[in-house]
Amino acid sequence: MMKKEKQKLIIPFVGLKPGLHRFEFEIDSTFFEQFDYSIIKEGDFKIKVDFEKKKNLFNLNFKIKGKITASCDRCLEPLTLKVKGEESLIVKFGETTFNETDEIKVISPAEYELDLTNDIYQYAHLLMPTKVTHENKKDCNPEIIEQLYKLTTKQESKKVDPRWAALSKLKDKSE
Ligand SMILES: [Zn+2]
Repeated sequence: MMKKEKQKLIIPFVGLKPGLHRFEFEIDSTFFEQFDYSIIKEGDFKIKVDFEKKKNLFNLNFKIKGKITASCDRCLEPLTLKVKGEESLIVKFGETTFNETDEIKVISPAEYELDLTNDIYQYAHLLMPTKVTHENKKDCNPEIIEQLYKLTTKQESKKVDPRWAALSKLKDKSE
């Protein structure tokens, strides 16, 4: 079986004049499908990149806007989140990636294009909130919420709160 070719996000910088250039990328669910452990399964993003070509380095600024479809942590129904954010990146040339950080990327002097596939994949994930829920509780699926409520109250009634037990003893004595 042939492995699926990655949808790559590339800036071919070799022919560019020094100065500012604008690039735009659009990605959708098929972009995220090519990564085995993507948290985002469904999403559409538009990425605008201001790419400044300097003599020995590149300055990049990303404006990212998108929609992510995920399931609500409260009621498990799918919901769509609108997200946006900005990121910046400095690209330097070097033989080792030893000095790389989240903000500095090092590429070989032999490169003629800049591959931003993994960077943009990460930026999209940074925009994903840690908790995904419908904004208002009333937007959640009421049937599922009720089922979950029944489950948790069943579990809770099994445990007896020790403070409550102590109180009920006192109450017994006073009677
Ligand atoms: Zn919900």
